[in-house]
Amino acid sequence: MTMESPLNTALAQLRGTIDKLGLSENDWQTLSTPRRVMQVAVPLRRDNGDVEMYDGYRVQYSTTRGPSKGGVRYHPDVDLDETISLAMLMTWKCALTNLPYGGAKGGIAVDPSTLSATENERLTRRYTSEILPIIGPERDIPAPDVGTDERNMAWMMDTYSVNAGFSVPGVVTGKPIVLGGSLGRTSATGDGVAIATREALRVRGIDINGATVAIQGFGKVGYWTAIALESMGMKVVAVSDVHGAVTGFPSVSALWDHFLANRNLDLPGTDRLTNEELLHLEVDVLIPAALADAITESTAPGVKAKIVVEGANGPTTPQGDQILQDKGVLVVPDILANSGGVIVSYFEWVQDKQNYFWSAGEVKENLSSILMKAIREVEEVSTSKKVTWRDSALMIGVGRVAEAHHLRGLYP
Ligand code: NAD
Repeated sequence: MTMESPLNTALAQLRGTIDKLGLSENDWQTLSTPRRVMQVAVPLRRDNGDVEMYDGYRVQYSTTRGPSKGGVRYHPDVDLDETISLAMLMTWKCALTNLPYGGAKGGIAVDPSTLSATENERLTRRYTSEILPIIGPERDIPAPDVGTDERNMAWMMDTYSVNAGFSVPGVVTGKPIVLGGSLGRTSATGDGVAIATREALRVRGIDINGATVAIQGFGKVGYWTAIALESMGMKVVAVSDVHGAVTGFPSVSALWDHFLANRNLDLPGTDRLTNEELLHLEVDVLIPAALADAITESTAPGVKAKIVVEGANGPTTPQGDQILQDKGVLVVPDILANSGGVIVSYFEWVQDKQNYFWSAGEVKENLSSILMKAIREVEEVSTSKKVTWRDSALMIGVGRVAEAHHLRGLYP
């Protein structure tokens, strides 16, 4: 493991937070260790009959405040180190937003674009059956992340239910509506990123109307963030995907329609940029919403935005973060900015448990109220303790998990 590994970064953040909170060495021992780590071999029969093996993981970092909760990622770079670090982040995120959950993460080291739909289904079902003993609505509830979507969640729910002998919708969130999904879940992470952006603009005294935004990533988070920002009156000037960035489009929905029809961002009349050029645009807000390590020692010096809102998990390295801080950029950290997804996943789980489903309006209203409470708390602690929003968010999240540990005590 190198010093730059995501796990070392997450552990260094935790160490700093424990010191700021004045917690003990015993707290460091309990909080820096995942509760349960499962590595599985996932065999896949390809459509041509060949058999291939893939590495799969499920990490339950904490179950102190409730069942663990976290996404399932399909990406070639998935490994144990990254999965533990993301499960740790989920733990602080659920505590920060005061959801009754611990934190988890899972995934398979695979490029889903190389799989046919039937191969994806077989891989998902086999992965689910390998991790089946440790998941469940009262134990650990997976959800979509990079490279997975509601189709994968439907297959996971079905595999779990077939094994249980009855329908168990609450085993995963991010499901299709007809299988017990929640209205508003698809757009929830983006809706939350947009609320966080609006509040950061307020704190910085910048008018929302016409505020300019560049978004790295045009997937589930990036797209819905762009749509929500436009509806609030902001101007999305550039977006990117893995192949590069684009600017000069008339509206996000025009670009999206082109993307759906052509699977590329080459809308006629627009201009292409590199991903790095997007990061360095003269805008009010920069939103990294793709993968980790976008804003680093080498890219941070060129950032001209006054506000960075972390739609992705871990998009800023510690060195990049320090450079942004020195420049006076307000960074809204991932565990706050992208928590809309897990907040509405929580609503989905509650609805599944009660077999009673809410209107889209109720979902939006409750999302806003939970997120706004967390934003105000982060702002308050940041002001009173004179720390960054990231430090503040971590202090609240880690502090709540430590308090729960203290109250439950150590068995035996
Ligand atoms: P996704 O797979 O739907 O989309 C990812 C996007 O990033 C795609 O547009 C892809 O082309 C683009 N991308 C990949 N590599 C890139 C690169 N090098 N440069 C520019 N763009 C690149 O994934 P998603 O669900 O939107 O997740 C994005 C991030 O948000 C991840 O860090 C994820 O953990 C985090 N997140 C997701 C959710 C959720 O509800 N989906 C919730 C919280 C956090």
